[in-house]
Amino acid sequence: MDLPENFSFSQHNLQDYMDCRYRFLLKYVLGIEWPAVENEPVLLQEARMELGNQFHRLVQQYFAGIDPAVIESSIDSDELTAWWRAFTELNLNAQSGEKYAEKLLSIPLANHRLVAKYDLFIRKNDGSYTIYDWKTSLRPPSPMRLMDRLQSIVYPFVLQSYLSSAAQSSGKRDKIEMIYWFPAHPTDPVAFSYTAEQLGNDRDYLLGLVNEITGNNEEWFEKTLAVKKCAYCRYRSLCDRGISAGDLGDEVDSIDSDSAFELDFDTL
Ligand code: SF4
Repeated sequence: MDLPENFSFSQHNLQDYMDCRYRFLLKYVLGIEWPAVENEPVLLQEARMELGNQFHRLVQQYFAGIDPAVIESSIDSDELTAWWRAFTELNLNAQSGEKYAEKLLSIPLANHRLVAKYDLFIRKNDGSYTIYDWKTSLRPPSPMRLMDRLQSIVYPFVLQSYLSSAAQSSGKRDKIEMIYWFPAHPTDPVAFSYTAEQLGNDRDYLLGLVNEITGNNEEWFEKTLAVKKCAYCRYRSLCDRGISAGDLGDEVDSIDSDSAFELDFDTL
């Protein structure tokens, strides 16, 4: 399968591929735009995602050096104010080390690039790194579910690979921790360490996915058999998997700003 010129792999498009090969084909290879049906659940999801986007923007301003009190005065939502106050209690700017907010890193993978955009990572004075990812869903996903997401592989893998190849690396493996932090549940982060042993395994795994995508023809990219995943996919009418969006009920609580186009998979 030929991918578009300048195509880069990311946790989003690889997750799409894992969730539904056909969706990957439609979205990234054929570039088919297909309007999602607007209805009440969809609008509710969009409102949740917009709140998450606002939170990310506030945090970006914080790391750009804007006074937290000034930032808070710009907030006009009680929920966002509560999230913001929980965030400021982390007092991350007081922590020693270099901080990189909304940082994009890219590494070569096969004949392509693999990119990761970090909400924040900190290079601590002892040379270790902590990656933060803000998850603004009302209800935090289970740690097991988070660990199953491609993001939990791609983010530490890209950082470790970048450090290993960059001049600033001492040659030894850098110690990396990743933290999913939930402003609605500030005392329940999900954290894990990335070990040197994982790097080789993850490279093999990711290369396997890339080779699978690039080495197969269109017939390989079949519709998912897990039809539940179609409920909020914008291609569902194109795929004859229903016209109306599914009713997610309480599942809407698990939507965050990362969901974006992929909200169907992030919520199921
Ligand atoms: S509607 Fe279902 S089968 Fe079609 S692209 Fe979306 S997830 Fe895949």
